[in-house]
Amino acid sequence: MYRTKTCGELRLADAGSKVTLAGWVQRSRKMGGMTFVDLRDRYGITQIVFDQDNAALCDEANKLGREFVVQITGKVAERTSKNPNIPTGEIEILAESIKILNRSDVPPFTIEDNTDGGDDLRMKYRYLDLRRSCVRKNLELRHKMAFEIRRYLDNHGFIEVETPVLIKSTPEGARDFVVPSRMNPGEFYALPQSPQTFKQLLMVSGFDRYFQIVKCFRDEDLRADRQPEFTQIDCEMSFVEQEDVLNMFEGLVKHIFKYVKDIDFTEPFPRMTWADAMKLYGSDKPDTRFGMTFVEIKDLTTGAGFAVLDDAEYVGAIVAPGCAGYTRKQLDALTDYVKRPQVGAKGMMWVKYEEDGSIKSSVSKFYSDEQLKKWLDRAQAKPGDLMLILAGPTMKTRKQLCELRLHVGSELGLRDPQKFSCLWVIDFPLFEWDDETQRYYAMHHPFTAPNPEDVDMLDSDTGAVRATAYDMVVNGNELGGGSIRIHDSELQDKMFHLLGLSEEEARYKFGFLMDAFKYGAPPHGGLAFGFDRFVSILAGLDSIRDVIAFPKNNSGRDMMIDAPSAIDQSQLDELKIDIVKED
Ligand code: ASP
Repeated sequence: MYRTKTCGELRLADAGSKVTLAGWVQRSRKMGGMTFVDLRDRYGITQIVFDQDNAALCDEANKLGREFVVQITGKVAERTSKNPNIPTGEIEILAESIKILNRSDVPPFTIEDNTDGGDDLRMKYRYLDLRRSCVRKNLELRHKMAFEIRRYLDNHGFIEVETPVLIKSTPEGARDFVVPSRMNPGEFYALPQSPQTFKQLLMVSGFDRYFQIVKCFRDEDLRADRQPEFTQIDCEMSFVEQEDVLNMFEGLVKHIFKYVKDIDFTEPFPRMTWADAMKLYGSDKPDTRFGMTFVEIKDLTTGAGFAVLDDAEYVGAIVAPGCAGYTRKQLDALTDYVKRPQVGAKGMMWVKYEEDGSIKSSVSKFYSDEQLKKWLDRAQAKPGDLMLILAGPTMKTRKQLCELRLHVGSELGLRDPQKFSCLWVIDFPLFEWDDETQRYYAMHHPFTAPNPEDVDMLDSDTGAVRATAYDMVVNGNELGGGSIRIHDSELQDKMFHLLGLSEEEARYKFGFLMDAFKYGAPPHGGLAFGFDRFVSILAGLDSIRDVIAFPKNNSGRDMMIDAPSAIDQSQLDELKIDIVKED
């Protein structure tokens, strides 16, 4: 037996018992002739004491380096100086024998919560990074959540079905990763961007309630917090309307919040139309932990001879509460922020509503205090508040104002990671117009059903048709999204047509699904949650990387195994693939 106890379980009540522990040397130190070793395993840390009376044993202990793997036998004793910070802090082991099971090179960074290792180093040695308890805890949470989600869905009659990974392009709108087929030279599989088509086929098969915790692959430029492979909780249900789907999965999310965080959401999650979300927050995933919603003041600003506002399609403002005292420097910093290329505004205007009721503004050359007061009144600003204003084309400016709102919200500490604000965004547009290619794209995917009230407008007012699509948003993150699907092959044909797909193209891509729909497809709908995101939100982390055991970096590279990498010429020959070398 390598051990009788783990490094996390001994307590004062165990004093006097003889135990054998095995684990890694966290650190060792000599003090007054004694040697103390902190022994670590997945379950905790236990202090081991080597007494100078046993010189041979002490010598042995003094040879231990960090991360050596050792087995130690000894007696549990009450500590004289207790450590209240760890659960085993009241005891220590008086070592009687020690065996080195394996040695270790000096690790490239310290295996501590507060490590000295930078990101790249930790990713290269991820297996060592995973020894750190703060990293391991995230994966423990992930495991717990996956388990509980499965239990919840199983209790509600969902069955987990695995769908293939080597498939044909799916319609999520990103680029596919492709895999060459040796047996079919010149032909490629695509890795699923989601199991979308398969889960719909399972509904045609009568499975009624499907789910899968599943890897999805999207070959996108890795903006901020994306991974080329990520995990979805993918779900689909038959004979449901939007209301049924929202209720079912609101239940799941509430259940997980209760289970992990002991948070009770007693009220139904608010619902906001996409149009309102854009109008009030400039985003389809509004962070509703704080207010500062947009106020439109275009009508109040026009006609004063100030071209910037006169010519703007849209003039929008937010009010930063209690910020009238902002200095010139602070205001300049905000202006610099919105002018960054990532935000892209030309400039920012401001109005200060001073505590004494007086008004100061960057545009007071053009507007009287009386006029400016009207702007403040519309926004229900109070003395002491600061109004920030952006102007320009509507959609673009709303997005910029959204960035500004989030930035100021963070500055003011209004985005507390321990506070959770969930909502559904509903009534998304069915289509999105793309200026560059001069055509419509499906905002969600081409199987999303139009809102029945808008079907008549499909030809006449295509861009205004609402979808039966919904997103669950938590703290400004899209936690998941889905839709009621088209189950009528004629409507599906029409949808492909509106998306500019010829009949042949549609058949080539989705013929199997169109055929299936001829054999009695039930009404169905579903959604998928981003599982990595769900875990990171509940763990209070900013990045999904921290909840993935072996993540990739921003260039899609696994720094540890060094992938992607070149393959042998013989493999290329077998696949009949030539690599074109760029100069
Ligand atoms: N397949 C969709 C996605 O990955 C989710 C859904 O519509 O169920 O976004």
